Amino acid sequence: MKRKLIRVFIVVISVVTISGGELNADGHQHLVQKGDTLWGLSRKYKVPLKNIIHANSIQPTSPLQIGKKLLIPGAPVGGVWYRVKAGDTLWSIAVRHNLEPRDLQRMNGISSPRALQIGTRLLVHQADSLSFGNPLRVPLVVTSQYGYRSHPVTRRYQHHDGIDFRASTGTRVYASRAGRVIFTGWKGGYGKLVGIEHEGDFSTWYGHLSRIRVRVGQTVTKGKVIGLSGNTGVSTGPHLHFEIRYKGRSENPTNHIIIP
Ligand SMILES: [Zn+2]
Repeated sequence: MKRKLIRVFIVVISVVTISGGELNADGHQHLVQKGDTLWGLSRKYKVPLKNIIHANSIQPTSPLQIGKKLLIPGAPVGGVWYRVKAGDTLWSIAVRHNLEPRDLQRMNGISSPRALQIGTRLLVHQADSLSFGNPLRVPLVVTSQYGYRSHPVTRRYQHHDGIDFRASTGTRVYASRAGRVIFTGWKGGYGKLVGIEHEGDFSTWYGHLSRIRVRVGQTVTKGKVIGLSGNTGVSTGPHLHFEIRYKGRSENPTNHIIIP
């Protein structure tokens, strides 16, 4: 009986310690995604590999578990910072960090590119830019789920590679995650389509657009307007068709984004 009580006590103590540790953790909590490696995270957050290994008590050789949270010690909460050096320009810093100069300027509230001062800390990577976000900023109404269905136009039973959201024509469509535009233009049933590739072999696709506002090769930050929704291609009404692919294969977007 006594031993049992002690054991309960120890469990309570350890739970308190663990939650306390997370609260006081000095660093960024990174949600492990497909394609993440310790080396990649070390490079991305500019934190020595051994510090990440030590902070999380993991073996350098063991594979990372998708969905697990890793503490990145010393990485600023909210993103990765860069200190401006002599000779840097807003443009050179942006290019080096795969950002559009305009986005770098906006992220840091810089009034003029010429106002850049040596020693200033610039946010060059937003912490949440590695996760997927909703491509629309209107209340999400799913009109067709991912998976097998009888096609609303062709009536054929086939796989729906994305998810359809109701959106009146002209609704702004946002990049779900930071990346590089790999496709813009007309593609069969998709109508006007934008494709963006992301780190870790992911890509996102936005179909039936009425307008396209990006060009191939352009880097986009998460939340950048990439076009306007519409009703182009094979579609029964204005909506956004949204796909997330991993190594070219479609995945259920609801595994990556939160649909209330
Ligand atoms: Zn669709």
